[in-house]
Amino acid sequence: MSSQATLDAPVVIAGAGPVGLVLALELSHQGVRSILVERQPTTTTFPKMDVTNARSMELLARLGLADLVRAAGVPSQHSFDVIFASSLAGREFGRWRLPSVDEMRAEIAGCTDGSAPAEPWQRAMQADVEAVLMRRCLEDDMVDVQRPWRVTGVTQDADAVETTIVHANTGERRVLRSAYAVGCDGARSQVRASLGIEQEGAEEVATFALVHFRSRDRERLQAHGQFWHLFFATGGIVISQDEDEVWTVHSQVPPETQPGSVDPVAVVRNVCGVPVEIDEMLEHTIWRPNVLVADRYRAGRVFLAGDACHQVIPTGGYGMNTGLADAVDLGWKLAAVIDGWGGEALLDSYEAERRPVALRNRDWSFRHLSVHLQMPERADVALIDDDSDAGARHRAELGEFVAANNGENTSVGIELGYVYARSPVVASTAEDEPPELDPLVYRPTTFPGARAPHVPLADGGSILSCFSRGFTLVDHGAPDPARLLDAAAALGVPMTHVALGPDAASASVYERRLVLVRPDGHVAWRGDDAPDDCDALVAHVTGRGERVATASATAKESAA
Ligand SMILES: Cc1cc2nc3c(=O)[nH]c(=O)nc-3n(C[C@H](O)[C@H](O)[C@H](O)COP(=O)(O)OP(=O)(O)OC[C@H]3O[C@@H](n4cnc5c(N)ncnc54)[C@H](O)[C@@H]3O)c2cc1C
Repeated sequence: MSSQATLDAPVVIAGAGPVGLVLALELSHQGVRSILVERQPTTTTFPKMDVTNARSMELLARLGLADLVRAAGVPSQHSFDVIFASSLAGREFGRWRLPSVDEMRAEIAGCTDGSAPAEPWQRAMQADVEAVLMRRCLEDDMVDVQRPWRVTGVTQDADAVETTIVHANTGERRVLRSAYAVGCDGARSQVRASLGIEQEGAEEVATFALVHFRSRDRERLQAHGQFWHLFFATGGIVISQDEDEVWTVHSQVPPETQPGSVDPVAVVRNVCGVPVEIDEMLEHTIWRPNVLVADRYRAGRVFLAGDACHQVIPTGGYGMNTGLADAVDLGWKLAAVIDGWGGEALLDSYEAERRPVALRNRDWSFRHLSVHLQMPERADVALIDDDSDAGARHRAELGEFVAANNGENTSVGIELGYVYARSPVVASTAEDEPPELDPLVYRPTTFPGARAPHVPLADGGSILSCFSRGFTLVDHGAPDPARLLDAAAALGVPMTHVALGPDAASASVYERRLVLVRPDGHVAWRGDDAPDDCDALVAHVTGRGERVATASATAKESAA
């Protein structure tokens, strides 16, 4: 590999699933070009992910994408209710009442104590979300989408990465040279394999048939009323994908089952317990969830993000949602290094910050799954439908179990409350004990490493809209913010001053007079006064070190 050759782009991204697409858009937002290589000619037609959680919606809003995703998703008035029943013809025995986007927006509007997210969650099929994100990438001059090209491997030296790609139709082979490469190429990541990175956890923990279909038979499908998810005591599930005519059924099948070997109509019939009119079969397949996290997220100039480095059970919706936060965390850091104001430690901090989150989300997804796995053992389907006192008692028992285990989509601590407390680029002292994470509760905090809380500004917008490019110094009446701002300016670090004053409603939520927030909306440092050594703080939170100059120079040359 010649170290003198020019670069094709600062960053090459393998895989244009939701994580690769958002990474490309984050890099563009930060002014960095990328080549996005996808082996398929189009985005996915499989529904897969169906909840984009509140944190992901905040991150998408930051990139100007939230409204586009909402427009492609379920209209805002529909609830996220989850119903438990014996069958479509049988009886309901439990319900998680979960608010619609409109209801959540009203709750958010009335909340000023920092405990609410800035954005409500959103129901939307992955197929539709990917189409929206891909359209954005295709319109963006900073993103060079290359498809259908398959990444076959990566090699690197001290100066650059070479990514080999092969055209899916012609077999033509090309080598792309970049300062950095990121494997966003999903569970079977070729980039991960090429780096020799192993994963820990369990593979193929279950086998499911997925049937995705169009049906106008709402009379039968909504026999228990409007729902997002409808779980049956026998273990199957129906998902209302668009609150109109698109539905997905998942059913556990024996491990040896192969795609194409099941009759999709029979799967729907068995899961629902009654025949349902199917107008059009959209997709059907077999899928097998893994619970795996990669040992490493980085090897030299190559990184992994999304399913390429963590795979979870879909219960709880921690797959794509965890991956989008990876993309934003990594994107601004790569941009900072390429731009010359970020250092090597910033790149190392990506794994230190994001891998613990993946491990926790993986374990928590398992906990949610166990609720569903217990259901067929606990439930006597005939008794659920029985009119007797015994039937009523059984429904009540199951209802209590459902109510007591309702964290699947309400674990806001998991979704909003993760803190990068021990990150090498966050300025908290080792003696400071980070707040303990309660998976079910989000408690606003500006402890270094935490997501800076949402509070409404005087103009009605969210303070989160200030955190986007460069660092932001949120100032609730500190005497000497200029010392920190000047230090940043002298070191070439972009830092914006948001002066809110000591009497602003946000002052108590932000806990300190000065809170330094990173481009991804996480707190880097806080204090009531600027620190004695402002240069040292700026150097610390930007991870600046000896190797920065070399990496930046190479990348900047190509960007020029
Ligand atoms: C049934 C189901 C329900 C789910 N529900 C949710 C949910 O509600 N919420 C949630 O957050 N997550 C959910 N998930 C998980 C979510 O679908 C994944 O976490 C998400 O797709 C990961 O995105 P990604 O971009 O990392 O990987 P992928 O979506 O797998 O995308 C990888 C991309 O890389 C491409 N690619 C692969 N190899 C190569 C190569 N060698 N060269 C070039 N391109 C390549 C692929 O074609 C693909 O486009 C669900 C998953 C399933 C199966």
